[in-house]
Order: sequence, then C-alpha cells, then structure tokens
Amino acid sequence: QKMKTCLSLLLLLLGLCQAQPLDMDIITDILISNNDSNEILLEGDLSQAQPLVGEESVDDSFHQTTCIRFVPRQNQYDHISVQSGGGCYSSLGRTGGRQVLSLRRSGCMNYGIMQHELNHALGFNHEQTRSDRDQYVRINWRNINRRSAYNFKKKNTNNLNTPYDYTSIMHYGRRAFSINGRDSITPIPNSRVRIGQRKGMTKNDILRINRLYCVVKPPTVCLQTSN
Ligand SMILES: [Zn+2]
Repeated sequence: QKMKTCLSLLLLLLGLCQAQPLDMDIITDILISNNDSNEILLEGDLSQAQPLVGEESVDDSFHQTTCIRFVPRQNQYDHISVQSGGGCYSSLGRTGGRQVLSLRRSGCMNYGIMQHELNHALGFNHEQTRSDRDQYVRINWRNINRRSAYNFKKKNTNNLNTPYDYTSIMHYGRRAFSINGRDSITPIPNSRVRIGQRKGMTKNDILRINRLYCVVKPPTVCLQTSN
C-alpha cells in the first residue's frame, strides 16, 4: 500500500499548479515557503521541526532522464524519508540510515523544488558554490546578511567535467539572501545573464547525475513514509 500512496501523491504533486510567476527562481520559492521557519539547515534551505505528516513521493522525471531509480523502501537501511515537514530541505548526499527530505505541502509541492531537493539528496550543492564559480559569478558580500553568508562559501566540488550552468535547478537567483534589494550574485563578465529558474533540471543537471551515478551500475534510492 506504500507504493500506492507513493504514486497517488506523485500525481497529486504534479497536478498542483504553480501560483507564482514563472520568472521566479527556485531558491526564492524555497525561501518564501520556509519563511516562518527559524532553524537554519544545510544549504540555506530553512526549516523548523514539526510533527511528521508522513507521505512519500517519487519524482518520475529522474526515471525518464537519468539512471536513478527511486523505489519504495522495503527493509533497506539507508533511505530517504520524504515528509511534509517545516519547509523544503534535504541533507546533502547519502548520510546513512534514514535521512529526511522535507517537502511541505504548502509551498514545496512544485516540480522544480522537488527536483532541487532530490538533487541535494543525490549529493549536489548549489551551483554558485562550485569550485570554479569565481570565473562565472561575483558574490557581493556587502549585500548579504552575515548570518546567511555561509550559503555563498565556495566548495571543493566535483564538477564532473560539466560547464558552469547559470540556469541549473541548483543555482540561486541573483538576489538570494540580499539584505538591501541589490544583487547578492552577479554573473560575470555579462551581468545581464539570467541566473536561476524554477522549471526543472537542465541538460547539465541531468548530465551531472548520469556522470556521477551511471558509469558502473544504475543505483536505486529508497523512499519511505515515516510515521
Ligand atoms: Zn537548496
């Protein structure tokens, strides 16, 4: 019956319309829906602890474009527990045992956000923290709140020989965490390049997943309801 819940929730999720304008980026969506949260989680995706509602979902788009197969959990030890928690958030990569991926019903149930959080769970950081980002964006520290600055710290990422992607589902919008309405991230050399989007994974997002996971043998990722 878990599989059934899983599939019907997926259909529900895909059927929900997106009320906000299409030109918003995914991080803005996430921050808006996490607005009333007060705990800072990984990657700037905020949340607060709340009672679990206990639903699960699988994002079919991964099955169509990558070798990742999300399967309902049976007795696997490592698994992702998809819940409607206090915001939209996920751990980074495989943590071992049960790891929570939260998609709050109000605010996180859109295609792009689901993909974004699942990408975190698969081990991907925000695009603008890439090791080579200084060639592509300038971080305007003076426009960023000190307490949020860690979200912009460069990381020693494995870029899997894929190009920096301004339109990655993992890229922040240009005013993410801005304290004054000015850009926190400016593309260089052309500052007018559009960054961030909310439609879905790009060619490069997909390529990255396949380069990381699909070389040897297609993996399965277990999803479970936890209540
Ligand atoms: Zn994120």
